[in-house]
Amino acid sequence: MTASQCVCGFIEDEADDQTIADHLLEVFAPEDDKGTDGLVHLEGERNLTCLCGFAAATPEKLDAHFVAVFTPADAIGRDGKKHHPIAANDDCMPPGA
Ligand SMILES: [Zn+2]
Ligand SMILES: [Zn+2]
Repeated sequence: MTASQCVCGFIEDEADDQTIADHLLEVFAPEDDKGTDGLVHLEGERNLTCLCGFAAATPEKLDAHFVAVFTPADAIGRDGKKHHPIAANDDCMPPGA
């Protein structure tokens, strides 16, 4: 398995238990948990279920859902920097292509 990396320089650190999804949520998730679709996305009372109705099979899938709904079209985070995951040999791939 290859390490996940963000264009900002963040590298997934398993020892630190911070995944690329954690990082992306940190920079993209707004205070009010509203996604780019205008709905609130937050883990509901039932495990692995989002308030929008999405039910995930695994925690990773729920994280992927949050990242997908919170990532703006320009991929600019709350820190004003661009963030998107890059694969090891894939740095010439344009975002959102
Ligand atoms: Zn949702
Ligand atoms: Zn980043």
